[in-house]
Amino acid sequence: MNEVEIYRTRWYSPEGIREIIDRVFASRINLIARGDRVLIKPNMLAPTRPEKAVTTHPVLVRAVVEKVMELGGKPVIGDSPALSNAEKVGKVSGIKQVADELGVPLIDLDSPVEVKTDSFFKRIEISKRVMEFDRIINLPKFKTHTQMILTLAVKNMFGSIPGRLKAEWHVRASKYMDFARMLYSVFSFRPPDLNIMDGVIAMEGEGPQNGRPYSMGFIIVSEDGLALDYVASKMVKAEKLVYLIKVAEEAGILSEKTNIGGDLNSVPELENFTLPSTTPLSPSLARRILRGSLPRPRIIPDKCTACGICQEACPTGSILEVGEKPKINYDTCISCFVCQEVCPFDSIKLVQGFLRRLFKV
Ligand code: SF4
Ligand code: SF4
Repeated sequence: MNEVEIYRTRWYSPEGIREIIDRVFASRINLIARGDRVLIKPNMLAPTRPEKAVTTHPVLVRAVVEKVMELGGKPVIGDSPALSNAEKVGKVSGIKQVADELGVPLIDLDSPVEVKTDSFFKRIEISKRVMEFDRIINLPKFKTHTQMILTLAVKNMFGSIPGRLKAEWHVRASKYMDFARMLYSVFSFRPPDLNIMDGVIAMEGEGPQNGRPYSMGFIIVSEDGLALDYVASKMVKAEKLVYLIKVAEEAGILSEKTNIGGDLNSVPELENFTLPSTTPLSPSLARRILRGSLPRPRIIPDKCTACGICQEACPTGSILEVGEKPKINYDTCISCFVCQEVCPFDSIKLVQGFLRRLFKV
């Protein structure tokens, strides 16, 4: 169904969020049958507090879990954080407290198995646990992403690739459009039955971990994750820039004819939302020439604690230990920005390529 619903709410009030979730399920009475095993898949990128807007807010996770239980389903909360585990991320983000209080398992999406797809990448390894559920409810967070520009519903299902296998994809699909094709292949192998995006407090700037919270005030819902991503990208005027949307348009799998429902009947356009500094330039001729100059990560020695997390995460082994602080080997760096994404101390800045800096565009 090519329909996207947008609900307004400024706060994570448990009653207000629960009322929205009740409305979402009121028109989907057959979605959950009694006894269904239901995977609830939040964004659990890293162990950070809810107010940092890195992870899906626990109030939304609670409302969805409670609703599934009320309908007779058996919910399980699961994700596969790249450099941590669900337990650790859950403790800091408040999601474990939800799981414990409601008596619901919190699991890691581990145990990879190779599966065939009929999408861009014909073979992928995903967690076999994803296939054990009758229903999947995807709970992405609306965030910027220095590599993919935005991380929304489709990207959130990258979490069904177990932890460290994710890094291999940054090498295998190092071109950004290829990475977006891989994301769609993973998503479409087992598309979620429902996507409910936390855009109440979103993230702008250098997401997905080191951006700024942005008070957006929306929960966005669709059974079609790609349609949701298109609408969400349009809200921040990025639909021509997000690699996933470009890939979907090229492949003819994106329908721009989307019905809007919920509290609104058209797509709102948000002002002053800052995209990452890595966002490609709009395609005028001069700017197309300058686009060849990729931004690069740079470590800020004064902020770096030499924790080694970036070195562990770099898929090309380009972060070297030289002296006390790590150094980047730009000969092998592929500008995937995983290091910036995982640095818990915001010690990696993205520096524009030479030509863009020279012309200040
Ligand atoms: S993750 Fe950040 S703080 Fe840790 S070594 Fe890398 S740059 Fe330094
Ligand atoms: S140094 Fe950073 S941007 Fe370069 S390849 Fe490694 S993780 Fe990617």
